[in-house]
Amino acid sequence: MMNNFKMPVILIGNSFKYEIEATLKLFFHENRFAFSDDISNAVGDNYVVACIQNENEISVEIMLNGVSESLSSVIDTSGEAYDDVAEHELCRLIYRILTKRTGIQPPWGLMTGIRPLKKFTALMRSGLSREQIFEALSKKYEITPEKLNIGYITAANQLPILDIIDSGAVSLYVSIPFCPTRCSYCSFVSHSMDSAVKLMPDYVKMLCREIEITGRIVKETNTKIDTIYFGGGTPTSLSAKELQTIMECVAQNFDIAGIREYSVEAGRPDTINVEKLKVIKELGAKRISVNPQTLNDDVLRAIGRNHSGADALKAFELARKVGFDNINTDLIAGLPTETPDSFRNTLDRITELSPESITVHTLTLKRAANLFQNAVENTDNPASEMVRYSIVKLLSENYLPYYMYRQKNTIDNLENIGYARKGFESYYNIFIMDETQTILGVGCAASTKLVYPDGRISRIHNYKFPYEYIRHFDTLMKKKEEINECLKKISFLRQK
Ligand code: SF4
Repeated sequence: MMNNFKMPVILIGNSFKYEIEATLKLFFHENRFAFSDDISNAVGDNYVVACIQNENEISVEIMLNGVSESLSSVIDTSGEAYDDVAEHELCRLIYRILTKRTGIQPPWGLMTGIRPLKKFTALMRSGLSREQIFEALSKKYEITPEKLNIGYITAANQLPILDIIDSGAVSLYVSIPFCPTRCSYCSFVSHSMDSAVKLMPDYVKMLCREIEITGRIVKETNTKIDTIYFGGGTPTSLSAKELQTIMECVAQNFDIAGIREYSVEAGRPDTINVEKLKVIKELGAKRISVNPQTLNDDVLRAIGRNHSGADALKAFELARKVGFDNINTDLIAGLPTETPDSFRNTLDRITELSPESITVHTLTLKRAANLFQNAVENTDNPASEMVRYSIVKLLSENYLPYYMYRQKNTIDNLENIGYARKGFESYYNIFIMDETQTILGVGCAASTKLVYPDGRISRIHNYKFPYEYIRHFDTLMKKKEEINECLKKISFLRQK
């Protein structure tokens, strides 16, 4: 189907648009859908009709390339909530037809959503055995045995950390949304240093003001800081002096002596030097990331990076020399022009370096990425083979998978997995995916997630662009007054 074609999706007797769209996207990631409740839109060679009649009669018709196929069933709603059962059954029928018609077998079956581990964890907590969990999840979602296995192992490694999350404490995220150049697969609002350089003095000034304001609220409400994470973008795109100013500001405004974890995503190897590494270390961060994504020079060129695989290895060694004993490296499976062999070669060389943690992402193609707009072929990408190799290799090297998330439009509907040596799991990576701890985001493009003691979650998004962040800083701080109210409630409970 053409990229700009909007497939008619007609919902009769239901309004489960979100989940139905997520299920359709398992098969048609680049397509868009035109939802309606008007059956007269069921025309042409491609459309979907998802219907509920008399409360429990479910039927789906899918017309694909001029050939129609239908399935129907009757649901029993005596157990679970009606909406959950009806929605799941509609999606299941759509899934059944589309796996048959397209030949695509999504590895996670019809489980959508970015947090697959939640289902594993809930079943583990209810006391089910491994076999019972596999049976329940394969029956409901048709997940492949391979993914059931890695999901289970990851959830089991994560569970003890989830149990020690302190919901009375908060974490701090410092956003540095700048990079030396834009990678072709990037959909993040990262700004190239060339365009941002003029704004940088003002940006650093405003970011420090926001850190001071946030630090004051944290102090006044007697809130404990649990972890700190500098992310981006590429925080080491800043000069050593700028990094120092921001990190000193964090140290002056937050009690970093008692925190559980302090990470700085150094990120792109071409931005790392001794001076910056020393600043990061001296100002309290113990964990850094050096993220080559691949060591294959052709691939690095294809994604628009200005560094070589050898530069990434040098940056890693430099970080060791400066004294970092907790280094993460990020890799991506499925980058353009990468082959299973070259991916294997990268992963083998990375494991020889023995970083404390390795995160294996799968390429995601979002509309905002240049790669997507240039319509680089996304079919027949061997990402699955690479991910399969990474699981086997990393488990055999004693890396424990401990967090996992999925994103929309990922090649082959695969996942991202964080592996670590025992004791080097990143708490922040787990906290960001879990919904139990408040995360205070400062800086342009950061978002704040306030988790109230009653479980309610409220999100506040900072401006995406540096000039907006600088110009409308006071308006933003007004919007963020809610932080005070939330932290007071958290603190009140903590002291009870
Ligand atoms: S380093 Fe990351 S944030 Fe920066 S351009 Fe590349 S993908 Fe985007």
